[in-house]
Amino acid sequence: MPGKTIFANAAGDIHFGMAAPAGFSPSDKAAVEKALKGLKGKKPWRCNVCNDLSLSKAPPDICPTCATPDAYVEISEKEFRNLIGM
Ligand SMILES: [Zn+2]
Repeated sequence: MPGKTIFANAAGDIHFGMAAPAGFSPSDKAAVEKALKGLKGKKPWRCNVCNDLSLSKAPPDICPTCATPDAYVEISEKEFRNLIGM
């Protein structure tokens, strides 16, 4: 997925995409690993239009990359890891 970037926010939520929701800034795989090890109710989600990923209690209402509303579906941690490349 060329051009997609890992982002994180102050709550430790992760977004992986061309863009991220408000409050997110560029991050790295170490932040993703930390989030996966302490999920605390967070789940992996994937946009069914552009394949952006979210690791959060609830996914973005509107995808920040493709602007589609209600596009996120829950996926397995394995699929999340595969798609983010770790
Ligand atoms: Zn999308």
